[in-house]
Amino acid sequence: MKTAEIAQRYLDYFEKNDHTIVPSASLVTDDPSLLFTVAGMVPFIPYLTGVVPAPYPRAADVQKCIRTNDIEEVGHTARHGTFFQMLGNWSFGDYFKEGAISYAWELLTSSESEGGLGFAERDLWVTVYQDDDEAAELWQKIAGLPVERIQRLGREDNYWSTGQPGPAGPCSEIYFDRGPAYGREGGPAVDDNRFTEIWNLVFMQYAITNVRSKIDFDIIGDLPAKNIDTGMGLERVAFIKQGVDNMYETDQVRPVLDRAVELSGRRYGADHEDDVRFRVIADHVRSSLMLLSDGVTPANDGRGYILRRLMRRSVRAMRLLGVDAPTFPELFAASRDAMKDAYPVVETDWQRISQYAVAEEETFLRTLAAGSTILDLAVEDTKKTGGSTLSGPEAFLLHDTYGFPIDLTLEIAEEAGLSVDRAAFDSLMLEQRNRAKADAKSRKRAFADQSVYRDFRAHGETVFTGYTDLETESRVL
Ligand code: ATP
Ligand code: MG
Ligand code: MG
Ligand code: MG
Repeated sequence: MKTAEIAQRYLDYFEKNDHTIVPSASLVTDDPSLLFTVAGMVPFIPYLTGVVPAPYPRAADVQKCIRTNDIEEVGHTARHGTFFQMLGNWSFGDYFKEGAISYAWELLTSSESEGGLGFAERDLWVTVYQDDDEAAELWQKIAGLPVERIQRLGREDNYWSTGQPGPAGPCSEIYFDRGPAYGREGGPAVDDNRFTEIWNLVFMQYAITNVRSKIDFDIIGDLPAKNIDTGMGLERVAFIKQGVDNMYETDQVRPVLDRAVELSGRRYGADHEDDVRFRVIADHVRSSLMLLSDGVTPANDGRGYILRRLMRRSVRAMRLLGVDAPTFPELFAASRDAMKDAYPVVETDWQRISQYAVAEEETFLRTLAAGSTILDLAVEDTKKTGGSTLSGPEAFLLHDTYGFPIDLTLEIAEEAGLSVDRAAFDSLMLEQRNRAKADAKSRKRAFADQSVYRDFRAHGETVFTGYTDLETESRVL
């Protein structure tokens, strides 16, 4: 079942059940506290919080999402993309728990010939919030699930709030069991590789106050209008339905991976580290394509910095696969062809998109070339003086002035038989970050959570920290 077909089945099912089908919002949000649309709920927040009356009681959509906080997972887990599509259905004061559970279960388990997704009931597990007896009972009643396949988890895992006074409520998640080849028995509470989360149902039923953290607050009482918010990962369903090992091997992503394989002359499936690189490239190229198509352009801060980081990580991964020449024209074209049916703009706007991609790759390859020359000289000097370690300040200078990533410095030094004083490098990085933070603090901030912007802005023009920093963005889920 192709990815597009799964999306269509989802929309058809909810349309048949009286949901208004809403087009995907842009990856770029109107909400200044969020860098990107990180979940299907983002465009619906005004309706969910009651700030704006919902124009329809029920809606369903396929929402484009970017989650940079999953970037380190990409290629390592089977299920995390920096770009992915979230299928969602919504009730604004209309149906509640029973409806949400019934719809989800029916769509997942009804046969393909009936328009369903054809999951076998024995492969599905669910989790509920520990005190949510109502949800647990509904799962037994509606799905006939035995109690041992309904696991109870705490607030950390199964509760939703914005971290602000307002709506909140328990979640219930649906998991697919990939079987013993993928890990341990015992359900999602035990192993999240074998038991892959596919669908998250959020039951917004309480009003909360005295919010001390996202999971520590006081419940005032029931919301006058209870809402349903759900999110199902399209790529996750796709890799399961397509019988492949992970989301990077699905029909919308795999063609990029295959092109990278061709360009590198290496094989996919022969070496674990290479395989991770192939998957990272497939993911990041697609995410970059989609960001460019939503109008984001490479920059040293904010959204453009995320895009730049994704593209540079792809270049870097190709280089580690032995390719020094430009590859973006081919990789991006492969991604365009895989995505154009779902998002025609990647083709109609191809001229503009590819210009940015090609220019960014050229610039970064030049940076790499310039940094390599400086690094080669430093290596030579160190060797001449009988040393075996490249100093921290040298590595920092390369990073800070030439935008030369530390992992590349480490790799090249190692090839030359040298080590790098990593501790000294790290402490220089820390000093710089603290300076940046102090600087940022002294400036007035307009919004509550601007940590991502702050770090990026503070790094200024020439600094590229994408290989050493793990930023998390403000999220609502
Ligand atoms: P996980 O625990 O696997 O990281 P999550 O709990 O962070 O997932 P939610 O925030 O509940 O995910 O998002 C709803 C659904 O969106 C998930 O059930 C999953 O199917 C999908 N999803 C979430 N993050 C990703 C991602 N990075 N790539 C692909 N699909 C995702
Ligand atoms: Mg997650
Ligand atoms: Mg989860
Ligand atoms: Mg979840």
